[in-house]
Amino acid sequence: VIPKGDPIQIIDNLIKNNRIAIFSKTTCPFCMKVKKLFSSLNLEVAVIELDTREDGDDIQDALLQKTGQKTVPNVFVSGENVGGCDNTIAAHQNGRLEFLLNKSQAGPKTEIPDDVKYDYDLVVIGGGSGGLAASKEAALLGAKVAVCDFVVPTPIGTTWGLGGTCVNVGCIPKKLMHQAAILGQSVSDAKKFGWELPDTAKHNWHTMVEGIQAHIGSLNWGYRVALREKKVNYLNAFAEFVDPHTLKTTDKKKKETTITSKYILLATGGRPRYPDIPGAREFGITSDDIFSLPHHPGKTLLVGASYIALECAGFLAGIGVDSTVMVRSILLRGFDQQIAELIGSYMAKHGIRFQRGYVPIKLERIEEGSPGRIKVTSQNELGELMEEEYNTVLFAIGRDACTNNIGIEKANVMLNTRNGKVICDEKEQTNVPHIYAIGDILDGKLELTPVAIQAGRLLAKRLFGGGTLITDYVNVPTTVFTPLEYGSVGLSEEDAIAKYGANDIEVYHSFLTPLEVAIPKRDDNEGYAKLICVKSLNEKVVGFHILSPNAGEITQGFAIGLKLGATKADFDNLIGIHPTVAEVFTTLNTTKSSGADVLQKGC
Ligand code: FAD
Ligand code: NDP
Repeated sequence: VIPKGDPIQIIDNLIKNNRIAIFSKTTCPFCMKVKKLFSSLNLEVAVIELDTREDGDDIQDALLQKTGQKTVPNVFVSGENVGGCDNTIAAHQNGRLEFLLNKSQAGPKTEIPDDVKYDYDLVVIGGGSGGLAASKEAALLGAKVAVCDFVVPTPIGTTWGLGGTCVNVGCIPKKLMHQAAILGQSVSDAKKFGWELPDTAKHNWHTMVEGIQAHIGSLNWGYRVALREKKVNYLNAFAEFVDPHTLKTTDKKKKETTITSKYILLATGGRPRYPDIPGAREFGITSDDIFSLPHHPGKTLLVGASYIALECAGFLAGIGVDSTVMVRSILLRGFDQQIAELIGSYMAKHGIRFQRGYVPIKLERIEEGSPGRIKVTSQNELGELMEEEYNTVLFAIGRDACTNNIGIEKANVMLNTRNGKVICDEKEQTNVPHIYAIGDILDGKLELTPVAIQAGRLLAKRLFGGGTLITDYVNVPTTVFTPLEYGSVGLSEEDAIAKYGANDIEVYHSFLTPLEVAIPKRDDNEGYAKLICVKSLNEKVVGFHILSPNAGEITQGFAIGLKLGATKADFDNLIGIHPTVAEVFTTLNTTKSSGADVLQKGC
């Protein structure tokens, strides 16, 4: 029996003194389910039943403060917050629970003996966003570092230089092609502002690709120079484990070398997935190929409905490519669905076709050439077939973590068996104490460049510079670079309701029309802004969403507000910058629950 006292102290003591701690209520069916799960695993748990204690409500409020979750059960394993019933069951299924339980059995992490001599203090596998950041920081702090980076060519033979996905086949070329599309729109707007331009303006694919690839080439070179200057040994070779401290590296000429390291950092990123259907690898391409495609793609089918499919469809259509998106279920899973649908309808109005509820089942080449012609057969849930011809088919159906061919079993590193991602604790440490992982291969974390960079830099500081900061994966801002950009930080409306309950949520919103489009008279009220607030937390803003031109720039600035715990009143107290789109957040006064009209009229 735990006596009354400071609720935070009660929570901390229960977590500290017990491998598994559950805050529960006796009548809650989800709590019973979680307790049953642990008892079926023969694991002892410490439980506080909040509804049997006078201070139950205070403890529940303290749990909200500590974990952001008010509902029960609230489960902790080996000091880490696992979450509620669904989270705990998912953790059991994906191996995280086993990882946390093993972690506490292992006791404190053992130091690596100093008398063992390794070739390096740190070897990083993967010279992408995360790997380069970690290796440069570690070298600056005096560590002896090597980074191995090797690009396995795509099925059609595309390959690239140092820097990983972001620089070569991700963020950078994507944003530049997005810019090409925006300029196309600007050219037609310009005429309405008095520019006398010929009506024959048309886009040249080769010029755009050449310009972008030249820029990427200069970035690749810059990375090599930076590694050399910082005395990081760059090995352009594929690395795989021989044992937990030893790696075999194989270069382009198949020359093998063995290296040993005190610490090893996995930063191997991911590669696009192909569907398991006839013709996919032979005739389809992915985002790994599109940015350097040597010919105009022609009529293009984009399969998938997340970030990559929608962004690629957006810029292709913007430069005049006939583009169709094949959507299996919903748009932008995991994002605010109201905004996902607004994006879809905006793109549809701007000429992008959507085929909803279909998946491709076969690709056949019907004419050779660049780009040639491909017949795509697809099917919906009712088994109805559809056939259509395209010049290019681009798959954007998710990415696989590059962990299946690096001999990871020889190092005994634990993976989530469902998705092949590496299970780590909050310090990016795997179950093998001297092996760490960062970036896209981390289980349960966001696949974004700045996230990988932050994790790499902070990890290097902790390993070699006495740093203590750990990466904060909460409230990470992000932007989908669709024709109207969508920026967000914090929770979607769906996730906010799931976390706090519909009654505790207030949504303030408005449609918007940027002044810039007033003269061309387009996109009236196509933009949208909303703030999601929690009533019981003094209207703390837990979700920020904007659909507008330059949403990325706007979201980056406001994200600091959410990180610092801004409330709706703080947004109201902020004075706007006029005339901008972003000022809408200082004057949002209509709630969604009121059902009032939020179309913007006038200035
Ligand atoms: P990567 O950058 O993928 O680097 C991993 C490197 O390791 C690669 O070079 C790989 O070849 C190499 N490698 C793998 N295995 C081995 C091995 N065994 N030996 C040696 N080398 C190996 N994020 C954003 O934040 N903003 C965006 O706008 C954005 N746009 C994107 C657009 C597209 C089309 C894509 C695909 C991604 C985009 N991303 C974006 C995501 C971003 O690119 C990734 O999150 C980021 O690159 C992950 O960095 P990383 O270090 O984990 O891995
Ligand atoms: P996601 O895993 O996010 O989405 C996969 C999409 O493909 C979903 O729409 C899914 O549909 C669909 N899909 C999956 N399997 C099939 C199939 N067999 N047939 C048809 N459709 C299928 O992948 P992405 O490749 O778009 O993005 C990967 C990550 O890269 C993102 O999570 C993001 O973090 C990062 N990224 C970031 C960007 C940015 O910051 N702007 C830009 C691009 C990428 P369903 O919903 O039905 O499962």
